[in-house]
Amino acid sequence: MFTLNKRGSMQAQKVFAEIEELKTDMTNVLMQLVRIPAIAPENGGEGELGKAERLMQIISDVGFDEIERHDAADERVSSKKRPNIVARCKGESTKETLWIITHLDIVPPGEDSLWTVTKPFEPIVKEGKIYARGSEDNTQSMVSSIFAIKALKNLGIKLRRTVALCFVADEEQGSTYGIQHLIKRRLFKKEDLIVVPDGGNGTGSFVEIAEKSALWFKVRTLGKQTHASRPGDGLNAHRVGMEYALALDKLLHKKYAAKDKHFDPPESTFEPTKKDKNVDAVNIVPGEDVSYFDCRILPHYSVEEILSDINGLASAYRQKTGAKISVELTQKTVAPKPTDVTAKIVLMLEEAIKSVRHLKPKVGGIGGGTCAAFFRRIDIPAVVWSTVDEMAHQPNEYAKIENLVNDAKIFASMAISP
Ligand SMILES: [Zn+2]
Repeated sequence: MFTLNKRGSMQAQKVFAEIEELKTDMTNVLMQLVRIPAIAPENGGEGELGKAERLMQIISDVGFDEIERHDAADERVSSKKRPNIVARCKGESTKETLWIITHLDIVPPGEDSLWTVTKPFEPIVKEGKIYARGSEDNTQSMVSSIFAIKALKNLGIKLRRTVALCFVADEEQGSTYGIQHLIKRRLFKKEDLIVVPDGGNGTGSFVEIAEKSALWFKVRTLGKQTHASRPGDGLNAHRVGMEYALALDKLLHKKYAAKDKHFDPPESTFEPTKKDKNVDAVNIVPGEDVSYFDCRILPHYSVEEILSDINGLASAYRQKTGAKISVELTQKTVAPKPTDVTAKIVLMLEEAIKSVRHLKPKVGGIGGGTCAAFFRRIDIPAVVWSTVDEMAHQPNEYAKIENLVNDAKIFASMAISP
């Protein structure tokens, strides 16, 4: 007599063996997909339609109950549309849907000469890795999610819950024509379980539930240029700029010093980074000084309050020195409230990582910037998870075949878990 648990685990073993059997098919499908560039119009591309149409053919015989298109109109591409695909498989329970969301678009390949293993759109397999632009980001997870369902369908296993695979456009450029378009169409419910396999670590132990806010700004200090032998005739913008930058650095670190062990690193970061060139000669006192800060802020802090501190200190230094200091924002992303560590999707994924990989999952936050943020913003819990070597956006990007296969096992076990 089997206990439910044993029966469950025997079923899982059958599914995993089936996924292993499908390894060659998975590799071939990934290679077919990455041959088709899906670059955003912002980067001179024609969008995702070619890749989406190939994908529609690939998923047509998997056994989905419904396949829908939710294309968004976009005049900038010749097809005038940005494709979004939803493929559903009905489960015993329809009260919650497990969504696995991956993106069709890729970033441009970048400098051609840096692609030394193969050309960006001519995939090759080498030492268990598939090299091509878009292989890891995000085609690997896309193919894993499709074959998780295919394996279950091949074995005639009824899903515990409805599973929907979502293949979206425009992730790399802000998701207006992708996940934001689908959220506007009200495809998602509060009870739904959202997985965005578009980030993670090399072992697959990291579950991302939170992100930091990001603030980039430029500080321009204007003084008066003069000969370095007579500094009293001018106003050294470089000195005032440095003094301001150091004082600001100190103020921000002191006032916003909280640590949150869920993040790596655990504290907010405030870094003076880029510095524009000033004068050409050593004997000139600079009349202008430009430097930049990159700040990554824990989500409980108010970005507005930090901005007002930055501007407040600039006006104090203006008064103190007579130089003009202006602060110009170049990027501001306010992090949504983190997904609760006790949300069902977090617990389900942790359970799958433990039982399939025998690893202790680590739940936490990192840089952010995936489709998950849009769900957190509307209070739907979402996790970012996958097993990746973090080759996204790099030359010689690759996907490990081992990760392609093993992540499918995690998705399949989430589809059939209680
Ligand atoms: Zn991505």
